[in-house]
Amino acid sequence: ATPTALLAATGRGAELGVLVRGPEVLESLRRIDTVVLDKTGTLTTGRMELAEAVAAPGEAVEEVLRLAGAVEHRSEHPIGRAITAAARQRCGSELPEVSGFAATAGVGVLGTVEGRQVRVGRPDDASDLAQDLRDALAHAESEGRTAVVVELDGRAAAVLVVGDTVRPGSWRAVRRLRGMGLEPVLLTGDRPGAASAVAAQLGIRKVHAAASPERKAELIAELRAAGRTTAMVGDGVNDAVALASADLGIALGSGTDAAIGAAGLTLVRGDIESLVVAVRLARRTLATIR
Ligand code: ADP
Ligand code: MG
Repeated sequence: ATPTALLAATGRGAELGVLVRGPEVLESLRRIDTVVLDKTGTLTTGRMELAEAVAAPGEAVEEVLRLAGAVEHRSEHPIGRAITAAARQRCGSELPEVSGFAATAGVGVLGTVEGRQVRVGRPDDASDLAQDLRDALAHAESEGRTAVVVELDGRAAAVLVVGDTVRPGSWRAVRRLRGMGLEPVLLTGDRPGAASAVAAQLGIRKVHAAASPERKAELIAELRAAGRTTAMVGDGVNDAVALASADLGIALGSGTDAAIGAAGLTLVRGDIESLVVAVRLARRTLATIR
């Protein structure tokens, strides 16, 4: 391999919005046969909005939203931003103070607001929920939306449904990757219903849902152990470990610093269409060198 050709390809990549950490990344890119894709913020825009808020019997929805919005104000996650924006809009821009804030990647957030313990996050066991909340959850998931539960002092007080849309280029990019012999796999921390709805829209047949950040990394390790040369594409703090364990970690330019720091390659334009361009560039460059 001539260093000059690699350098030229690296420069060409930069022009196309594909930043590689070093020229050796092109070789990894050429060899991959499996592309694992995060859902929220990667295949979808990550620009979420509150679509629905359903309170448990005896709870006032505006009040629950106000407390949830206050805690989520501290979160960087697209779900958190959507909830805070909706709370501000509906309850006035002054959100109360939060103490003891903690965020768990891929799970949710918690904190104390006005003396109440507020938790917002992934519903673990829907069967414990009031009927209205269970219905809201099921309906949201059948449409590929994400539903989170707000707990006040340990009791489920509301289901908040947030929705974002599949990126306009995702469908074509997935089809092209497959056309190039790469198998797409969807990997998400979101629940199975929402995951399969998005996978179905994109024609992705392999889906792993409800994966914690550690589980994401484990799945990558399993694929590699099975002989797959695996790229992982993600945007979130929750993807960083998986990005680091893949043969090639790929971050979206729109993603978090943690994701970009853990990746060998960054798609500056923040969409997976430029991944298709990148693979083509790597294959062409290294084919001429050999
Ligand atoms: P993805 O893998 O699709 O990018 P994440 O791992 O970031 O999704 O999130 C997984 C799940 O964790 C979300 O669907 C949600 O239920 C919960 N979650 C994560 N962050 C938050 C937050 N700030 N507020 C509420 N729920 C959250
Ligand atoms: Mg994500």
